[in-house]
Amino acid sequence: MTPLITDIIRECHRLRSHIHHLQQEIDRGPRVLKSRQEELEQERRAYEGHLETIKRLKLKQREDEGSLKQTEARLARLEEQLLSITSAKEYQAKLSEIAQAKEKKSALEDAILATIMELEEKTAATAEVEKRWAQAQADYTVFQREAEERYARLQQDLQLSQQELNRWEEQIPEDLRERYDKLVRAMGPDAFAAVKHRYCQGCHTQISEQTILELRSGIFHRCFNCGRMLYYAEDA
Ligand SMILES: [Zn+2]
Repeated sequence: MTPLITDIIRECHRLRSHIHHLQQEIDRGPRVLKSRQEELEQERRAYEGHLETIKRLKLKQREDEGSLKQTEARLARLEEQLLSITSAKEYQAKLSEIAQAKEKKSALEDAILATIMELEEKTAATAEVEKRWAQAQADYTVFQREAEERYARLQQDLQLSQQELNRWEEQIPEDLRERYDKLVRAMGPDAFAAVKHRYCQGCHTQISEQTILELRSGIFHRCFNCGRMLYYAEDA
């Protein structure tokens, strides 16, 4: 038995709306994935940045310690030279060199101390930083698995809905086919509207009692105002 055209229109509306939503969900997928990947990348940079800072601080400490050693050796040499100087002028010049070297030594010692303190602080935070990075990776793995499952579900629903839609649309009478296709191409799921509480649900125009009676008995109508293909829906 062939269903009424209004029943076909109702089912086509339901299925085309559903397919439209599924397609939107599927299309959103790559954008969501990209933003999650960016978040993960940010976490990776924070983690790697932390390790990089520690490496840099250790290198700076080694370099400063090397300079300090050189400065101390130089200072010892200068102080030794001081003993053999006889001219007052040369003596003053040597003293000034010694003062400069002492200043440099003191600045290096301060810098090394500051580096050691910063290193201690960073090293103490490493466990927390590593934990955070591990958590970010675990979260991402869960997200990825769920996204894949979700995508498979959506695809399956899409395929089944499309098959069901095809079965309904095959039953559209020949004389309506061209008009139907044209409207659906132009308006998508918006090519249909239910009539509920006597109003077209597409444009909220009142539909005549006569048209409603005809819709209920399965006669094809489009809304005289918005042109949508109509079907009757129980007032709920
Ligand atoms: Zn309308």
